[in-house]
Order: sequence, then C-alpha cells, then structure tokens
Amino acid sequence: MPKSCDHSQIELDASTGMSLVVIQDLSGGKENVPVRAEWHDADGIQSNASPSPPFRAFQYITRNLIPPQAAEPFYDGCTCQHSCLDMPSACACTTTHAPAYTQMGFLKLETPPIYECNSNCTCPRTCSNRVVQHGLKAPLCVFKHDSNKGWGVRALSVILAGAFVTEYAGEVIGTKEAERRWIEMKKTGSSNYILCLREYGPDGQVYRTNIDPLRFGNVARFISHSCSPNLGMHIARIDSIVPSAALFVLRDIQPGEELTFDYGGSASLNWAESGDGVIENAHDGRIECLCGSSNCRGYLPYDPAL
Ligand SMILES: [Zn+2]
Ligand SMILES: [Zn+2]
Ligand SMILES: [Zn+2]
Repeated sequence: MPKSCDHSQIELDASTGMSLVVIQDLSGGKENVPVRAEWHDADGIQSNASPSPPFRAFQYITRNLIPPQAAEPFYDGCTCQHSCLDMPSACACTTTHAPAYTQMGFLKLETPPIYECNSNCTCPRTCSNRVVQHGLKAPLCVFKHDSNKGWGVRALSVILAGAFVTEYAGEVIGTKEAERRWIEMKKTGSSNYILCLREYGPDGQVYRTNIDPLRFGNVARFISHSCSPNLGMHIARIDSIVPSAALFVLRDIQPGEELTFDYGGSASLNWAESGDGVIENAHDGRIECLCGSSNCRGYLPYDPAL
C-alpha cells in the first residue's frame, strides 16, 4: 500500500526498483489534466518524514497574474456563430489579425502574432481560434534529473507538432521590479527565472513584458532549456493587451520525452541558480548549459539588459 503524506505519496519505480515520491497533481485540480511531480528522496522516505517537494513552495496559477486594469478585452471581437476558422474572411477577429491556427487548432507553419477570440466574441468555446485560453491538454510529469541539471518536464502522451502545450505563467511585473528581484535573487543565491518578452513596435520602440514564475507559476517553470528544443515560444493575446508566452510543439513528441525550449529564443529568460540546480560558472557568472545537443552553445542564454 502506498504511504500517503500531505500531498505526496510513495510509489515503487518499476524500472529502477527505487522508491519515488509522487504528487499526483501539482496544480491541485486547476489544470484540465493532472501535472504529476516525482522525485527520489531516500532520506525523506527512510526517516519516515512527509517528503515535501525539494523546491520552494509556489502558488499554482494557470494564467498570468496581471494588473486588474489590464485584464479586459482590448478589441471588440467578432459576431461569428461558428468556428471562426471555418470562414475566416467573414470573421472580424481573423480579418483584423491574420489567423495563427489551422482549422484543427494547430499552429500554422508561418505563425503570425497570435490574437485569439476573446470574451467579446460570440463564437462558441470550441472555435479553433481559441487555443491557449483553454490551457493544458496533455498530461505532463515534472521530474528531477539524476544529474545536476535540476528539474525537467516530460510528456506522458504523444503531442503532435503544432499543438499548444502550456503558457509560461507567472506574475507580470514592471522592468524596475524585475531588475530589483533579479539582483536580490543573485545575491541570495536562490533560483530565479524571469522571462522577458520583447516586442518591437513600428516606432522602433521595444515593449517589454516581464513574467516572474517564482511565487506564482505553473508547470512551465520546470521546463529545461535546450539549444535544440522541441518547444517554441510565441506571444499570444487573448483577453488582455498584456501578452502571454505560449509554448507550442515544434516536432512530434513521444510519451516519456523531455520538453525543452530555448531560453534565449523569441523571448529571453534570465537564469540564476545555485545549490542543487545548474552550475553557476565563474565566467561572467554565466551558467554552463547541460542540454547535450550537438549544436549546444555552451552556456545558458544570459540577458545583461535585465
Ligand atoms: Zn472565434
Ligand atoms: Zn469570429
Ligand atoms: Zn472572435
């Protein structure tokens, strides 16, 4: 019989014969599908203590926390009665903003900026122009790497190329606050990863959105960097002018495969972690990349502007 603890249970890992500490759903029912978490914890199990997760507690959210005044639809929406991508030329949403999805709701190869139908639209919830807003569909598992790479996330089912996986959710904060938090975290040596989305306006101006998943976050905060990733990040707008960072599958993913994205891709992520996480290298404080891909750049992307 598995021993149940606060939120965690102990299971036998059939492949290694070792005991695993398991949380059945890290999201506590907030996602459509459970987000499993598992790790080996010989000490916790032997001492009969309730093995608590070896990462700092955070509050699980499925969508970004944004200032309330920004949480409103920012354009009028459409008056369609069917899936807007069945007749995109008749839809105010997909004529104003080119559709980013196929009729099946997969990302198009040439992805325009993503604007989804919002709460002002009359189309059904099943409209193919509503994807990111429906959240996680594929069951995932957060796991601890055996090496010093820290945490990772693996798929528990097949996820096809073009499918949406998850938002990179967190607290949306101003740039000054992001800088303050980042400096503080570097000093205390605790983990921090503030995602900085940059958009370039026609006026040449750079618009930044900083997403901090440390205190409020979702499964995406555990996804590892790779220089040869299987997820790509896209900026999506739904019910707010504040963009979301949405992760889509670049190539078919098999059950058990680890999910990765490029922290220095279309968005950039500043990373500072020591202790049981990745290695902080003496070279400029940059962190050695352990992704193991043949085109590995050697270090995790680092954004000195943050
Ligand atoms: Zn629609
Ligand atoms: Zn429409
Ligand atoms: Zn619409």
